[in-house]
Amino acid sequence: MYTTGNRIAWLQGPDASCAKTGPVPPRPWHLVLLGPPGVGKGTQAEKIIAEFGACHLSTGDVFRYAARDTSGQAPSPAMAVALAAMKRGELVSDATVVELVRERIQCLACQYGFLLDGFPRTLEQAHALDAILGAAGRKLDAAINYFAPESLIIERLSGRRVCRQCRTGYHVQNKPPRVSGRCDACDGDLIQRDDDKPEAIRTRLHAYATTCDPVLEFYRRQGLLRKIDASGDPGAVFVHTREVIQKLSPAVPH
Ligand code: AMP
Repeated sequence: MYTTGNRIAWLQGPDASCAKTGPVPPRPWHLVLLGPPGVGKGTQAEKIIAEFGACHLSTGDVFRYAARDTSGQAPSPAMAVALAAMKRGELVSDATVVELVRERIQCLACQYGFLLDGFPRTLEQAHALDAILGAAGRKLDAAINYFAPESLIIERLSGRRVCRQCRTGYHVQNKPPRVSGRCDACDGDLIQRDDDKPEAIRTRLHAYATTCDPVLEFYRRQGLLRKIDASGDPGAVFVHTREVIQKLSPAVPH
Protein backbone atom coordinates (compact mmCIF):
# COMPACT_ATOMS: atom_id res chain seq x y z
CA MET A 1 0.00 0.00 0.00
CA TYR A 2 1.54 3.32 -1.09
CA THR A 3 0.80 6.74 0.36
CA THR A 4 -1.13 9.34 -1.58
CA GLY A 5 1.51 11.81 -0.43
CA ASN A 6 1.33 15.53 -0.51
CA ARG A 7 0.79 17.12 -3.93
CA ILE A 8 1.66 20.62 -2.83
CA ALA A 9 4.26 21.09 -5.61
CA TRP A 10 1.64 20.09 -8.16
CA LEU A 11 -1.08 22.29 -6.67
CA GLN A 12 1.05 25.37 -6.04
CA GLY A 13 3.60 25.14 -8.85
CA PRO A 14 7.38 25.34 -9.04
CA ASP A 15 7.85 27.57 -5.98
CA ALA A 16 6.59 24.81 -3.70
CA SER A 17 8.68 21.75 -2.97
CA CYS A 18 7.45 18.21 -3.18
CA ALA A 19 6.57 16.64 0.15
CA LYS A 20 5.90 13.10 -1.08
CA THR A 21 7.42 10.47 1.19
CA GLY A 22 7.24 6.70 1.52
CA PRO A 23 8.63 3.83 -0.54
CA VAL A 24 9.40 4.42 -4.21
CA PRO A 25 7.61 1.81 -6.37
CA PRO A 26 9.94 -0.68 -8.10
CA ARG A 27 8.22 0.14 -11.38
CA PRO A 28 7.11 3.79 -11.50
CA TRP A 29 4.07 4.18 -13.77
CA HIS A 30 3.47 7.04 -16.17
CA LEU A 31 -0.20 7.03 -17.05
CA VAL A 32 -2.78 9.36 -18.53
CA LEU A 33 -6.38 8.83 -17.35
CA LEU A 34 -8.92 9.84 -19.99
CA GLY A 35 -12.71 9.95 -19.97
CA PRO A 36 -15.57 12.39 -19.45
CA PRO A 37 -15.92 14.41 -16.25
CA GLY A 38 -17.67 12.35 -13.59
CA VAL A 39 -16.72 8.96 -15.04
CA GLY A 40 -14.70 8.18 -11.90
CA LYS A 41 -11.09 8.91 -12.92
CA GLY A 42 -10.31 10.49 -9.54
CA THR A 43 -11.61 7.48 -7.63
CA GLN A 44 -9.65 5.07 -9.82
CA ALA A 45 -6.57 7.27 -9.43
CA GLU A 46 -6.74 6.87 -5.63
CA LYS A 47 -6.95 3.10 -5.97
CA ILE A 48 -4.14 2.91 -8.54
CA ILE A 49 -1.89 4.98 -6.30
CA ALA A 50 -2.58 2.83 -3.24
CA GLU A 51 -1.62 -0.30 -5.18
CA PHE A 52 1.00 0.83 -7.70
CA GLY A 53 2.38 4.10 -6.29
CA ALA A 54 2.71 7.35 -8.33
CA CYS A 55 1.25 10.82 -7.78
CA HIS A 56 -2.23 11.91 -8.82
CA LEU A 57 -1.80 15.02 -10.97
CA SER A 58 -5.17 16.55 -11.80
CA THR A 59 -5.26 19.84 -13.71
CA GLY A 60 -8.81 20.42 -12.39
CA ASP A 61 -7.41 20.20 -8.85
CA VAL A 62 -4.88 22.94 -9.67
CA PHE A 63 -7.68 25.27 -10.76
CA ARG A 64 -9.85 24.39 -7.75
CA TYR A 65 -6.87 24.97 -5.46
CA ALA A 66 -6.27 28.38 -7.06
CA ALA A 67 -9.99 29.22 -6.72
CA ARG A 68 -9.90 28.70 -2.95
CA ASP A 69 -6.52 30.36 -2.45
CA THR A 70 -6.74 32.09 0.89
CA SER A 71 -3.45 34.02 0.64
CA GLY A 72 -5.37 37.20 -0.12
CA GLN A 73 -3.40 37.69 -3.36
CA ALA A 74 -5.45 38.26 -6.50
CA PRO A 75 -4.98 35.49 -9.11
CA SER A 76 -2.88 36.33 -12.17
CA PRO A 77 -4.93 37.66 -15.11
CA ALA A 78 -4.54 34.30 -16.95
CA MET A 79 -5.68 32.39 -13.86
CA ALA A 80 -8.67 34.72 -13.34
CA VAL A 81 -9.83 34.02 -16.92
CA ALA A 82 -9.23 30.28 -16.36
CA LEU A 83 -11.27 30.23 -13.14
CA ALA A 84 -14.18 32.05 -14.78
CA ALA A 85 -14.16 29.45 -17.60
CA MET A 86 -14.06 26.64 -15.06
CA LYS A 87 -17.03 28.04 -13.18
CA ARG A 88 -19.08 27.97 -16.39
CA GLY A 89 -17.94 24.39 -17.12
CA GLU A 90 -15.93 25.51 -20.17
CA LEU A 91 -12.43 24.39 -21.02
CA VAL A 92 -9.55 26.64 -20.05
CA SER A 93 -7.40 27.71 -23.02
CA ASP A 94 -4.75 25.30 -24.21
CA ALA A 95 -2.05 27.94 -23.71
CA THR A 96 -2.90 28.39 -20.02
CA VAL A 97 -3.22 24.67 -19.22
CA VAL A 98 -0.09 23.70 -21.12
CA GLU A 99 1.92 26.42 -19.38
CA LEU A 100 0.62 25.25 -16.01
CA VAL A 101 1.71 21.67 -16.72
CA ARG A 102 5.04 22.77 -18.18
CA GLU A 103 5.78 24.73 -14.99
CA ARG A 104 5.25 21.52 -13.04
CA ILE A 105 7.66 19.42 -15.10
CA GLN A 106 9.40 18.20 -11.95
CA CYS A 107 6.18 16.39 -11.00
CA LEU A 108 6.28 14.54 -14.32
CA ALA A 109 9.94 13.64 -13.86
CA CYS A 110 9.36 12.40 -10.31
CA GLN A 111 10.75 9.00 -9.28
CA TYR A 112 7.33 7.94 -7.93
CA GLY A 113 5.69 8.13 -11.38
CA PHE A 114 2.46 9.95 -12.20
CA LEU A 115 -1.20 9.60 -13.11
CA LEU A 116 -2.27 12.59 -15.16
CA ASP A 117 -6.01 13.17 -14.73
CA GLY A 118 -7.87 15.75 -16.83
CA PHE A 119 -4.90 16.45 -19.11
CA PRO A 120 -4.58 16.24 -22.06
CA ARG A 121 -8.11 17.14 -23.15
CA THR A 122 -7.35 18.38 -26.67
CA LEU A 123 -5.04 17.23 -29.44
CA GLU A 124 -2.91 20.33 -28.96
CA GLN A 125 -2.47 19.46 -25.28
CA ALA A 126 -1.60 15.85 -26.20
CA HIS A 127 1.20 17.08 -28.52
CA ALA A 128 2.40 19.50 -25.85
CA LEU A 129 2.49 16.70 -23.28
CA ASP A 130 4.69 14.59 -25.54
CA ALA A 131 7.15 17.48 -25.79
CA ILE A 132 7.10 18.12 -22.02
CA LEU A 133 7.63 14.42 -21.27
CA GLY A 134 10.49 14.31 -23.75
CA ALA A 135 12.14 17.19 -21.90
CA ALA A 136 11.56 15.40 -18.59
CA GLY A 137 13.09 12.18 -19.94
CA ARG A 138 9.85 10.27 -19.45
CA LYS A 139 7.59 8.17 -21.71
CA LEU A 140 3.94 7.31 -21.23
CA ASP A 141 3.12 3.70 -20.41
CA ALA A 142 -0.56 3.98 -21.37
CA ALA A 143 -3.54 6.25 -21.78
CA ILE A 144 -6.46 4.60 -19.98
CA ASN A 145 -9.84 5.71 -21.27
CA TYR A 146 -12.82 5.23 -18.93
CA PHE A 147 -16.27 5.31 -20.52
CA ALA A 148 -19.86 5.08 -19.24
CA PRO A 149 -23.37 6.04 -20.47
CA GLU A 150 -24.07 9.77 -20.29
CA SER A 151 -27.16 9.27 -18.08
CA LEU A 152 -25.00 7.59 -15.44
CA ILE A 153 -22.39 10.34 -15.63
CA ILE A 154 -25.02 13.05 -15.10
CA GLU A 155 -26.37 11.16 -12.09
CA ARG A 156 -22.87 10.83 -10.63
CA LEU A 157 -21.97 14.49 -11.18
CA SER A 158 -25.22 16.02 -9.99
CA GLY A 159 -25.19 13.99 -6.74
CA ARG A 160 -21.61 14.90 -5.87
CA ARG A 161 -20.94 17.00 -2.77
CA VAL A 162 -17.68 18.21 -1.28
CA CYS A 163 -16.76 19.47 2.18
CA ARG A 164 -16.21 23.24 2.09
CA GLN A 165 -13.38 22.90 4.63
CA CYS A 166 -11.43 19.68 4.08
CA ARG A 167 -12.63 18.90 0.50
CA THR A 168 -13.62 15.29 1.32
CA GLY A 169 -15.97 14.07 -1.41
CA TYR A 170 -19.43 12.51 -0.98
CA HIS A 171 -22.37 11.48 -3.13
CA VAL A 172 -25.97 11.94 -2.01
CA GLN A 173 -26.85 8.34 -2.96
CA ASN A 174 -23.66 6.34 -3.42
CA LYS A 175 -21.58 7.77 -0.58
CA PRO A 176 -23.83 9.80 1.73
CA PRO A 177 -22.44 11.42 4.88
CA ARG A 178 -23.64 10.11 8.27
CA VAL A 179 -25.46 13.41 8.92
CA SER A 180 -27.10 15.03 5.90
CA GLY A 181 -25.18 18.10 4.69
CA ARG A 182 -22.28 17.65 7.19
CA CYS A 183 -18.80 16.24 6.61
CA ASP A 184 -18.06 13.00 8.53
CA ALA A 185 -14.41 14.00 8.90
CA CYS A 186 -14.62 17.62 10.13
CA ASP A 187 -18.35 18.50 10.40
CA GLY A 188 -17.89 21.17 7.71
CA ASP A 189 -20.73 22.16 5.33
CA LEU A 190 -21.15 19.95 2.28
CA ILE A 191 -21.54 21.99 -0.89
CA GLN A 192 -22.06 21.37 -4.58
CA ARG A 193 -19.22 22.55 -6.83
CA ASP A 194 -20.32 25.31 -9.21
CA ASP A 195 -19.31 23.13 -12.12
CA ASP A 196 -21.43 20.21 -10.86
CA LYS A 197 -24.60 22.30 -11.27
CA PRO A 198 -26.89 21.22 -14.17
CA GLU A 199 -26.04 23.96 -16.69
CA ALA A 200 -22.28 23.57 -16.12
CA ILE A 201 -22.54 19.77 -16.33
CA ARG A 202 -24.14 20.08 -19.78
CA THR A 203 -21.38 22.46 -20.88
CA ARG A 204 -18.63 20.16 -19.54
CA LEU A 205 -20.01 17.07 -21.26
CA HIS A 206 -20.38 19.00 -24.51
CA ALA A 207 -16.78 20.27 -24.22
CA TYR A 208 -15.57 16.72 -23.67
CA ALA A 209 -17.57 15.31 -26.59
CA THR A 210 -16.18 17.89 -29.00
CA THR A 211 -12.51 17.41 -28.10
CA CYS A 212 -12.04 13.79 -27.01
CA ASP A 213 -11.95 11.88 -30.32
CA PRO A 214 -8.67 13.27 -31.71
CA VAL A 215 -6.99 12.66 -28.32
CA LEU A 216 -8.19 9.04 -28.23
CA GLU A 217 -7.04 8.56 -31.82
CA PHE A 218 -3.64 10.11 -31.01
CA TYR A 219 -3.03 7.49 -28.29
CA ARG A 220 -4.62 4.65 -30.25
CA ARG A 221 -2.15 5.22 -33.10
CA GLN A 222 0.74 5.02 -30.67
CA GLY A 223 -0.56 1.73 -29.26
CA LEU A 224 -1.00 3.36 -25.85
CA LEU A 225 -4.81 3.45 -25.60
CA ARG A 226 -6.59 1.08 -23.19
CA LYS A 227 -10.39 1.23 -22.69
CA ILE A 228 -12.27 0.40 -19.50
CA ASP A 229 -16.03 0.31 -18.94
CA ALA A 230 -16.56 2.47 -15.84
CA SER A 231 -20.27 1.87 -15.35
CA GLY A 232 -19.83 -0.61 -12.48
CA ASP A 233 -19.03 0.20 -8.87
CA PRO A 234 -15.52 1.56 -8.19
CA GLY A 235 -14.22 -1.77 -6.84
CA ALA A 236 -15.32 -3.67 -9.95
CA VAL A 237 -13.89 -0.99 -12.24
CA PHE A 238 -10.60 -1.21 -10.39
CA VAL A 239 -10.40 -4.96 -11.01
CA HIS A 240 -10.25 -4.11 -14.75
CA THR A 241 -7.88 -1.22 -14.14
CA ARG A 242 -5.50 -3.49 -12.24
CA GLU A 243 -5.57 -6.09 -15.04
CA VAL A 244 -4.82 -3.43 -17.63
CA ILE A 245 -1.85 -2.06 -15.69
CA GLN A 246 -0.47 -5.50 -14.92
CA LYS A 247 -0.58 -6.38 -18.62
CA LEU A 248 1.39 -3.32 -19.67
CA SER A 249 4.82 -4.16 -20.89
CA PRO A 250 7.17 -4.59 -17.95
CA ALA A 251 9.72 -2.54 -19.86
CA VAL A 252 12.81 -1.24 -18.15
CA PRO A 253 11.72 1.34 -15.56
CA HIS A 254 12.07 4.88 -16.82
P1 AMP B 1 -11.93 18.41 -14.00
O1 AMP B 1 -11.94 18.31 -12.52
O2 AMP B 1 -10.82 17.64 -14.66
O3 AMP B 1 -13.28 18.11 -14.62
O4 AMP B 1 -11.60 19.95 -14.36
C1 AMP B 1 -12.42 20.99 -13.88
C2 AMP B 1 -12.35 22.17 -14.83
O5 AMP B 1 -10.98 22.64 -14.91
C3 AMP B 1 -12.74 21.85 -16.26
O6 AMP B 1 -14.16 21.89 -16.47
C4 AMP B 1 -12.03 22.97 -17.01
O7 AMP B 1 -12.69 24.21 -16.83
C5 AMP B 1 -10.71 23.06 -16.25
N1 AMP B 1 -9.70 22.15 -16.82
C6 AMP B 1 -9.07 21.14 -16.16
N2 AMP B 1 -8.20 20.52 -16.95
C7 AMP B 1 -8.29 21.11 -18.16
C8 AMP B 1 -7.65 20.90 -19.42
N3 AMP B 1 -6.73 19.93 -19.58
N4 AMP B 1 -7.98 21.72 -20.45
C9 AMP B 1 -8.88 22.70 -20.30
N5 AMP B 1 -9.54 22.95 -19.16
C10 AMP B 1 -9.25 22.17 -18.08
